[in-house]
Amino acid sequence: MKIAILGAGVAGVASAIAFKLKGHDVTVVERRDADTNIGAGIVVWPNAAFVLDRFGVLDDMAAVAGRPRAMQRLSRHGDDLGALDIGLIDGRMGYPSLSILRGDFQRILLARLQALGVDVRYGHNVVRIDAGTVVHFDDGSTLAADLVVGADGRMASCARRYVTGDATPVYQGFINWIGICEGDFDADTILDYWGTGERFGIVPVGRDKAYWAGGAAQATIGARNPDDYRDELQRIFADWPEPVRRVIAAAPAARINKIYVHDHDPVPTWHRDKLVMIGDAAHAALPTSGQGACQALEDAWHLANCVDAHPANLDQALAAFTALRFQKTAGITMAGRGLAASLFNRDEAFCRERDRASRQADFAGLAAAMADGWRRHLPL
Ligand SMILES: Cc1cc2nc3c(=O)[nH]c(=O)nc-3n(C[C@H](O)[C@H](O)[C@H](O)COP(=O)(O)OP(=O)(O)OC[C@H]3O[C@@H](n4cnc5c(N)ncnc54)[C@H](O)[C@@H]3O)c2cc1C
Repeated sequence: MKIAILGAGVAGVASAIAFKLKGHDVTVVERRDADTNIGAGIVVWPNAAFVLDRFGVLDDMAAVAGRPRAMQRLSRHGDDLGALDIGLIDGRMGYPSLSILRGDFQRILLARLQALGVDVRYGHNVVRIDAGTVVHFDDGSTLAADLVVGADGRMASCARRYVTGDATPVYQGFINWIGICEGDFDADTILDYWGTGERFGIVPVGRDKAYWAGGAAQATIGARNPDDYRDELQRIFADWPEPVRRVIAAAPAARINKIYVHDHDPVPTWHRDKLVMIGDAAHAALPTSGQGACQALEDAWHLANCVDAHPANLDQALAAFTALRFQKTAGITMAGRGLAASLFNRDEAFCRERDRASRQADFAGLAAAMADGWRRHLPL
């Protein structure tokens, strides 16, 4: 089958690998001129590690990744709010959790794609889709395919507009500044500091580097000026614990990014004609879900399997794929919103109560629930 994939982010590249491994004729088109990305790092949870293993890249990822064992919650004064045992999640799911820089993650996926003989056509900006099979670019050229996979992200997806008539994401009232940093870190422990309407997370990738994210509630979308990012962070987190201040001071300014964080309301329809949307185009979840890229990988694996299982009926294949994926991804989107609503709440009394509840939480039960939710529909 001739398959056109829109977007060379996680979902697009992973989907290209999955379809190519099943022998399809795959073309990936990407509007960026080259392989660049604005991200810092991701945690590959065991459900995603399973998919990466099936794609033949898990060992390459593990070779450059960290292997965090715990996520330690702390107040913005450094008080212990309890810790999630990541080893329990890994043990229950049978695959490791890995922390990896976004650049390494994308480079390894792309290398696999190239080894399979698929090139990404950069500088191809999709502007319109006809009949779910003809893709139009801004230079007037077109690409026809038997199946179009829309993996063009959360902010203005042509695929989502084609399927649902609207691709406008929902601003969720907080900013994330993200970056990477070298230094001396406890490789085993992710640090997650909770304030009042503010949060700071530090994720080690081995002993000598980490990626991090600082978040703060902000009701409306404002300016983005890269020259100001470090000052903004230093103002907000001025009296937070030393690891936070150290990371902000040490982060290379050119690698700090600022994101007004959006997601999408879940929609149960993901396909129209011969086009199906996947990844953030279909179900963008907030970073507080921790699962955006992981779910994009799951989409890629499941979609190729569904198409394989219904060789004579693409409509059935796409309906089966959507039915399989909708509830799991919608649950993750809503969980991300729930945590964000709690973390970015500016009410002092609410946050005091939230922190008290965290200190008394059943973290072993939480780890088991997370593992059971994430392994759904996977042979783990
Ligand atoms: C601050 C932040 C932190 C995050 N942290 C994590 C994390 O720790 N763990 C995790 O699992 N997830 C995380 N996520 C979520 C994760 O980044 C996304 O869910 C994941 O990247 C989705 O991949 P995607 O391929 O669907 O979309 P994208 O990565 O956005 O890729 C879409 C691609 O489509 C291209 N494109 C768009 N429009 C067009 C067009 N018209 N023509 C051609 N190409 C087009 C884009 O250039 C882009 O390359 C985070 C997200 C944010 C915002």
